[in-house]
Formats: sequence, structure tokens, C-alpha cells
Amino acid sequence: MSSETGPAVVDPTLRRRIEPQEFEVFFDPRELRKETCLLYEISWGGRRSIWRHTSRNTDKHVEINFIEKLTSQRSFRPSARCSITWFLSWSPCGECSKAITEFLSQHPNVTLFIYVARLYHHMDPGNRQGLRNLICRGVTVQIMTEQEYCYCWKNFVNYPPSNEVYWPRFPNVWMRLYMLELLCIILGLPPCLRILRRNQRHDTLFTLVFQRCHYQRIPPPIIWARGM
Ligand SMILES: [Zn+2]
Repeated sequence: MSSETGPAVVDPTLRRRIEPQEFEVFFDPRELRKETCLLYEISWGGRRSIWRHTSRNTDKHVEINFIEKLTSQRSFRPSARCSITWFLSWSPCGECSKAITEFLSQHPNVTLFIYVARLYHHMDPGNRQGLRNLICRGVTVQIMTEQEYCYCWKNFVNYPPSNEVYWPRFPNVWMRLYMLELLCIILGLPPCLRILRRNQRHDTLFTLVFQRCHYQRIPPPIIWARGM
């Protein structure tokens, strides 16, 4: 792949890439867009070849669509070792987390890594418990950082010529807010992140509200490292 020409014209994944504007809108951590976008890659049996594709919500959530599509494929062999990585614009809801844990229970050879741009309705206890259940089941759940944005840009986006090294440089503070909230979820603490949703993106307020239990359970260096 040349840095001068964008994705190679013979790149077999080209038709499965999304446009730069779509990527920026879907994965902006400040943007509370309703629809979910999934970028995923699958590798089988430790092979170096990786299958990449993108998906969105239909009448079902994108995670359910993924599971149904994967398990219905004739090439799907439950006995083969399989590594799946998701880059999700929203974290899974409680119902999807339940479906994912059931899928993983039925397919113990599957390893799943989930990177999310935002936490979906993170105040909802069911969503929080769902994420904890995923982590207990061995799923890696992390907030997307610049490293993942860069990776997605190079591998899932039909980026324009000479823009291989570009990725949306969203302010780190939003990633840090979501990282802190994900830590609260993992530790079983109440939410510390408050998002006041309004219609216009620029009217959306992100604030931190700490309680005594947050200070007791979260090591101060982690809070300081988040720049708070
Ligand atoms: Zn869902």
C-alpha cells in the first residue's frame, strides 16, 4: 500500500471500506449519533490472513447481525480457533452483551476484542452489568485511543490519496472521560460521567461528578492521569 495513492486499487477490501466522512461522524466520541457502526476483522486458526468488513444497525442491533451472519456462513467452523476484533462506535447494550456472552459460551474457541468510541447509555444498570459480564467472560473491552483510530483509518477507511497517516484527531479528553467511566463500570461503582444530551452536538455537556466511593476505589494517580 502506498502512502501516495491511498488504499491500493487492487486492495480486495476496498469495496468494504467506509468513506472518511462516515468514519469521522460515526466514531467521534463527542457525537451522540443514534446509529451504530461496526468495523470488524476475523482471523481463523492463527492464520495471518484477516477478513475485514463493516456493518451497521438494521432493524436489529449490529452485534446481533454480526453473530447471525457469522454463524450462518457455511465456512464457519466452531471447532476452529477464531479471533474477532470489533471497533464499535457505541458499546454493546445489555441485551447485545447477553447475546454475545451466549454466543461465546457456545463457541469457546472464539476470542473477542471490543474497542468502543463511546459508552452506550452508560447510566443504565443493565448496560453496565452487560459490560461487566462480557469482561468476566474474557472479552477485552477498551475505549478507542488514537492508536485504534489510526489503525481503523488505515484498514477500514477509503482514505484519500496521501492521507494514510491522517486519522481524526479528536481531543483526548473525551477518550479519557469514557476510560474513567469504563473503569467505574468494571469496579462496580456508580457513574461519574454525566452527559447532558441535547439536540445539537455543541450543546452536549460532559461533566464529572465524583462521589466518596470514587475517591476511595479509584487510585488518585488514575484520576490525575485522566487530566481531571
Ligand atoms: Zn444492542
